[in-house]
Amino acid sequence: MPAPYPFSAVVGLADLRLALLLTAVNPAIGGVLVRGEKGTAKSTVVRALAALLPELDAVGGCRFACDPAAPDPECPDGPHTRGAAVIHRRSSLVELPVGATEDRVVGTLDIQRALAEGVKAYEPGLLATAHRGLLYVDEVNLLPDHLVDLLLDAAAMGRAHVERDGVSVKHAARFLLVGTMNPEEGEPRPQLVDRFGLVVSVSSPDEPAPRAEVVRRRLAYDADPDGFAARWAAEDALLARQITGARERLSTVELPDGELDRIARICLAYGVDGLRADIVVARAALTLAAWHGRGVVTVEDVKDAARLALPHRRRRDPLDPPGTDEERLEETLSNEDPDPEPPDGGGVPPGPSEDGETQPPAAPGQPYRPRVLTLPKTGERAHAGRRSLAYARRGRVVGARLPQGAGAPHLPATLRAAAARGSRTVAPADLREAVHVGREANLVLFVVDASGSMAARQRMTTVKAAVLSLLRDAYQRRDRVGMITFRGAGADEVLPPTSSHEVGVQRLARLGTGGRTPLAAGLEAAARTLRAERRRDPRRRPLLVLVTDGRNTAGADPLTVVPSLAGTAAVVVDCEAGPVRLGLARRLATALDASCVPLAALGRAA
Ligand SMILES: [Zn+2]
Repeated sequence: MPAPYPFSAVVGLADLRLALLLTAVNPAIGGVLVRGEKGTAKSTVVRALAALLPELDAVGGCRFACDPAAPDPECPDGPHTRGAAVIHRRSSLVELPVGATEDRVVGTLDIQRALAEGVKAYEPGLLATAHRGLLYVDEVNLLPDHLVDLLLDAAAMGRAHVERDGVSVKHAARFLLVGTMNPEEGEPRPQLVDRFGLVVSVSSPDEPAPRAEVVRRRLAYDADPDGFAARWAAEDALLARQITGARERLSTVELPDGELDRIARICLAYGVDGLRADIVVARAALTLAAWHGRGVVTVEDVKDAARLALPHRRRRDPLDPPGTDEERLEETLSNEDPDPEPPDGGGVPPGPSEDGETQPPAAPGQPYRPRVLTLPKTGERAHAGRRSLAYARRGRVVGARLPQGAGAPHLPATLRAAAARGSRTVAPADLREAVHVGREANLVLFVVDASGSMAARQRMTTVKAAVLSLLRDAYQRRDRVGMITFRGAGADEVLPPTSSHEVGVQRLARLGTGGRTPLAAGLEAAARTLRAERRRDPRRRPLLVLVTDGRNTAGADPLTVVPSLAGTAAVVVDCEAGPVRLGLARRLATALDASCVPLAALGRAA
């Protein structure tokens, strides 16, 4: 059998991969439902996950895969004696076919033989085979309701049980449940969706670069599966170790009361039914902390958990337009921001990290959590996200205005308007509406100086770590990203604007350095890219992030290009180092009306 496609070689699908890894660490999260059309590699990713699950010890001869260290006291093949033979094997991957019968799933019990011979007359089903492994149901929405209920009950209880004519058999059935479905083939019952812990929607990349990368890797895999898998083996082994480490750490992770309160507030504000959502978010947040190697749940863990666990759980208002769940969740989460930047606070607010914890300085070359770079002016929101402030239909109320048709009435302002006329009754002209501010996603265009002066004394390592950190940050804030580099003879659009941050990370890793510094060419390329993007999506506001030491050694004077960037919000990351400083990047920032952040101050702890 050829090696399965490696998990680490999957392009994009970041939410899906994270959801699968989390449930591999902690199956109690309650399984993952993957929604997506055909051809989105859902099955490939799920099968790839099975290969990452840790190998296990099982009691030899036990058809229920008892753990020798803690055999199931009710095991139909038990009781197992100490010192029984132990086999070491991979975790199982069980694929449940849509046409499976109930007997096939829970096992068959021969009543005549059971009465004569006891439980040996029980033939285990797929639930037993899946114990301590992964149970994968493709097209789970097409599975008959009674089978779905069986699966979900077993997954929730960690046990399966069969009963025939008063004879019953019980056995452990703890498995990681992953279902996939194509929404085009019918929506599943809401009860079904609600019982999965995490729900992820996937789609094929909508950009040429990641699409090409998917195809490139698929062709390489098909041509030589084993060779391809070998090239990714180290990455996969790292993930497998990370799963094992997180499993060990999980029971020691703390969930502070403040974060538990936050979970409750988010679930209430988002409008979920019952308490199940709160529990799933709490479990997912604990697991995220364990995954990231932390001992305490942070605000970021809670928000990321909410994104995976909540969008499908909202009590739907029949008047709601469809497809607003994600946007609404982002608003709920951005209102939870404990450290909101003031609306006119400029580009780079100083201060502690969002969760108030002090961040240890990152090792050289390692990514870190960067300062939040934002647009200085409040926009009109077109794309919900987590970066810049923007007026929105919902969100934090920041004031009142004459009605423009969008906002809810602002009662105090309306009463004040009536009072200002000296009236005790409200007339239509007194009506004021609330002004809401939320957060929007932006286009973050990186323009990175890769010339020789930047490459000196390993500075490029620091610069790459900074850009990598900003790319990750942009992913978490739901931004589009693009990247232009300049060195030698000119500028190069290494990453046309895209929502696939991973391609950016890959391009960054391969970035060549050296040569002279054609700064003006870099800025010209940026202006071209921004013009094209403005035509494509006029309502998405861009943020230009120029990473340079400001030394211009080739081509035109960069100041001659500045007018073509007029009105563009920009931040200059000043990479100048050494004892003699020319302040060129700072001067360029002033000309661009941009804020200027020294490279060393980009990490918040700096
Ligand atoms: Zn057993």
